[in-house]
Amino acid sequence: MKIFGIDLGTTNSCISVCENGEVNVLENEEGLKTTPSVVSVRNKEWLIGDVAKRQLEANKNTVLSIKRLIGSDAKVELEGKEYRPEFISAKILKYLTSFANKKLKENIIDVIITVPAHFNDRQRKATKLAGEIAGLRVLRLVNEPTAAALSYGIKPDNKGQNILVFDLGGGTFDISILEVDNNDFEVIATGGDNSLGGDDWDNVIVEILKKHCLEELKIEKIDRSMQVRLKVAAEKAKKELSSSLSTKINVPFIAIVNNEPVHIDYDLERSTFEKLSFELMKKVEQILIEVLKESKKTTESIDKVVLAGGSTRMVMVKDFLEKFFGREKISFSLNVDEAISIGAAILGDSIYNEKSSSEIMLMDVTPISLGTSLAEDKYDILIPKNTSIPISITKEYTTAKDFMDEIEIDIRQGEDQIASNNKLIAHFALKKIQKAESGTPKISCTFKIDVDGILHASATDLSTNASKTIVVENYLDIDENEKKSLIKDFSKNK
Ligand code: AMP
Repeated sequence: MKIFGIDLGTTNSCISVCENGEVNVLENEEGLKTTPSVVSVRNKEWLIGDVAKRQLEANKNTVLSIKRLIGSDAKVELEGKEYRPEFISAKILKYLTSFANKKLKENIIDVIITVPAHFNDRQRKATKLAGEIAGLRVLRLVNEPTAAALSYGIKPDNKGQNILVFDLGGGTFDISILEVDNNDFEVIATGGDNSLGGDDWDNVIVEILKKHCLEELKIEKIDRSMQVRLKVAAEKAKKELSSSLSTKINVPFIAIVNNEPVHIDYDLERSTFEKLSFELMKKVEQILIEVLKESKKTTESIDKVVLAGGSTRMVMVKDFLEKFFGREKISFSLNVDEAISIGAAILGDSIYNEKSSSEIMLMDVTPISLGTSLAEDKYDILIPKNTSIPISITKEYTTAKDFMDEIEIDIRQGEDQIASNNKLIAHFALKKIQKAESGTPKISCTFKIDVDGILHASATDLSTNASKTIVVENYLDIDENEKKSLIKDFSKNK
């Protein structure tokens, strides 16, 4: 059985397969091993990857960084039609598996998709849904830093090592600390920020350029197409500053001022870029300190720091890590763009291929605490963050008022003591419970988090013994009919 390992990234995606013990990172139609996560529609034709990215400036029906919206209620409008983020992500998944299957002359539909360790329940379910819409069987989700650790760690000298994976991509930041012993991988703690990534460093340069446009070039207003051009130029400059001390940013014909065309011709020093990125690096440092604290490991006890994600190429990130841990601990052995998808392919092979030579034991953790709302908006944590998964926990609840015949249960993810400040994952009502004085009914709630980090919850009224079990299924406010119509829609527009 062959399984694709897919890194569905904010900026770029990558697909790999394990064949006869070797991992093969598959090239797209342009001969590249990473594919921009960009989707565009032009006269009803869907364009994905490099071809979509190339028309970013010219075609406003182009979507970047859809991963930032996955699991939210946001919709994306393309040529006058609204799409769910999962639908757009499905387009990327379909494209990746199509060129990979073409190359391999196979028809593989089984996949493992990686997700940021810090993704919440809704984002995880939405990623699975994207796979389903694309006609794939999502066998498992695996956390991105865990996948990077698998890709780093399958080697004979891995005896009792503490590995810290530092994964800074285009839109997300994750850190995981693992204890690795031969093929046993146990995640001890994880932390991160779902909205911190290379895009934010691009925006530092975009702001510099905007200021230059408004104050020095006397451009009145920055419109959408100018904004897109500034962003493209900023990312290019950022990458150049990873290998040079300064760069020249040229954006010709950016606007017309006093009937004359104006151009951006701006010199940017790496030191200026680094100074203005101070706040972002501070955030990175805070998260790192927090995860170390939660793992109960010291800086000295970390044996190796493994880098993943394109943004770890920035000099300020490498300098920071070398200062924090010591130069000798930083491993540059992984290809930061491919490691995550390779790790997913290795895991897929180990679990599902009977003939696989590697038997991986993997224990991951849940990244965010899970709990319920109590009276007075108090938050009751049932499964604290960094608990090993899978896990199941059962707790008894009762009524707060006399003769209630219904109990409502909120399930939330987050760390705040005030329930409503945490993300609502599901809400369900258990109806027709025993009518009695407050405190008499006994409602037993079971919360399970599976290996994908996804929640399954049920509640039973123990007092009536009517086993009224309600399973929370209507995640993402999507019912079976809508799902079917999404799948139908998807297969219609090729
Ligand atoms: P990923 O999500 O891992 O594909 O990472 C993509 C992010 O890495 C984007 O924000 C890129 O701009 C950034 N990136 C890629 N190459 C470089 C580089 N040479 N220097 C700085 N950032 C880079």
